[in-house]
Amino acid sequence: MLLTADLTGVPVLVLGAPDDTRRARRRYEAAGAAVRSVTGPDLLGPADLTGVALAVLVGPAAPRWREALDAAGARVPVVQEPAARAGGRVTLVGGGPGADDLLTVRAVEALQDADVVFVDRLAPAGAVAAAAPGAEIVPVGKTPGHHPVPQAKIQELMVEHALAGRSVVRLKGGDPYVFGRGAEELAACAAHGIPVDVVPGITSAVSVPGAAGIPVTFREVSRMFTVASGHVPFSEAELAHFAGLGAGGGTLVVLMGVATLPHLVAGLVRAGADPATPLAVVERGFTDRQRSTITTLATAVEDTAAAGCGSPAVVVVGPVVRLATAERDAFLAEVTAHGC
Ligand code: SAH
Repeated sequence: MLLTADLTGVPVLVLGAPDDTRRARRRYEAAGAAVRSVTGPDLLGPADLTGVALAVLVGPAAPRWREALDAAGARVPVVQEPAARAGGRVTLVGGGPGADDLLTVRAVEALQDADVVFVDRLAPAGAVAAAAPGAEIVPVGKTPGHHPVPQAKIQELMVEHALAGRSVVRLKGGDPYVFGRGAEELAACAAHGIPVDVVPGITSAVSVPGAAGIPVTFREVSRMFTVASGHVPFSEAELAHFAGLGAGGGTLVVLMGVATLPHLVAGLVRAGADPATPLAVVERGFTDRQRSTITTLATAVEDTAAAGCGSPAVVVVGPVVRLATAERDAFLAEVTAHGC
């Protein structure tokens, strides 16, 4: 049960084995309750119930607990909830592109079960607080060029907490396996024999262009899309490859690509891409400050500098960008006339 009520100072009695009740105790404590616990039915006495407003029975509805509550003269409402899952596990969770309601149901369930959550900067912070009240929240966010907690340290912390028997969630922006270092974290856990589950997330590579009205594929226009990291400048071979894809109408999506944009556009044109190819920079997708800057390879450097484009942003190159411009309807008519 997710509790949003303010229980400040309210005595709540939590019943069950310490490991089973750890999640419930933390949640009621986070709601301000004065939590007491009794770990077994044989240990329950009338004094435990003095002033108690609510009893929380954790785990299967064992008749012995009911008998013990009756014997102790309990006159309080009793709510039942499942035991926390055994700890010693890590769940890599994709948090989606930033909006709290773009987390999957499975991601929310993983958060509800967490003892500790290591959170990235682009993960949906509001959703964490709502889904995991009482869990220890550790921000380990990185901004371009600034990594307050280095990756090796993050992995060390995840392993340390899991080995201590805790249920660890690593919440990332987008999908954990799209430039999320999910595979490295999986390997670090595997090296210590720690079981890992992976919950996929909605990647910004597809959803942020979509939020700006740009479908990454469009029959007859683009039947492929390539997602690349612009974290470091592309090699000449990569640029030639991208320019070749564009010739076939493909879509190029670049994450972490704002700083290296001048290098990308110059390289694509040098490798033979048409300078008139449309390019979009979509910043801060799914926030109220989402903004699209639509330009072309020829004018991208000037236009994005004038607009002051910054990270986080997704860069999209290819004819599908025309769907986010004023010529959208004409373009759609032109494309559909070809018999899609
Ligand atoms: N695993 C993530 C990507 C991590 S790399 C995913 O699947 O989405 C971080 C980059 O993702 C940012 O630099 C930016 O390019 C992009 N990004 C993530 N969220 C974004 C958002 N809400 N708006 C724009 N770009 C975003």
